Amino acid sequence: MRILVAEDDPSIAAPVVAALGEAGFAVDHAADGADVEFRGQTEAYDLAVLDLGLPGMDGLSVLRRWREAGIGFPVIVLTARSRWHDKLAGFDAGADDFLTKPFLLDELIVRVRALIRRSAGHAQPQLRCGPLYLDANAGRFSLDGAPLALTAQEFRILAYLMHHAGRLVTRAELGEHVYEGGFDPDSNVLDVLISRIRRKLGLPLIETVRGQGFRLADPA
Ligand code: CA
Repeated sequence: MRILVAEDDPSIAAPVVAALGEAGFAVDHAADGADVEFRGQTEAYDLAVLDLGLPGMDGLSVLRRWREAGIGFPVIVLTARSRWHDKLAGFDAGADDFLTKPFLLDELIVRVRALIRRSAGHAQPQLRCGPLYLDANAGRFSLDGAPLALTAQEFRILAYLMHHAGRLVTRAELGEHVYEGGFDPDSNVLDVLISRIRRKLGLPLIETVRGQGFRLADPA
């Protein structure tokens, strides 16, 4: 899962980027509003954390432009103000959630995980595929009831496939959603990581669709 953090205050951006990275997300950071708006239009994000007071273009304008362009990823707005009419303006512009500064990083992570899960169509925090479970709130996998140890990159890949179980995920899509910055879809890094995950699972849950991508077995 890949997240855009749009925040111009380094004392807020740095801990947010670090915490989201530790929580298993690929994170891009941008500080200028026009840059933020462009990235949201051109990159494949699963969620954005958006400060309202950005230089270049304010956060509400960024959000309005995204929504007018049909960009639908969930957006958590960060605001220094907790006044209701500010929040109402944010919801009108297409925000999904709000956090008023200062906020707890743990609370941000919980809200991010819940929004990403729900936007992928999962009502329950437990995602299941046979004996494989993802506790989407805690960000932990288990297999046959035992914790499944994964590296950060393995976690990102399996979490993305788990959120989209049962459907073909192309190599390009997977690369875009698990790596920050650019991704070369021709590199074999995904294949290497997928084969490591398969070994850890010990079960044929991940199917390779030749020349296209991968599919995690349907939960049913
Ligand atoms: Ca700001």
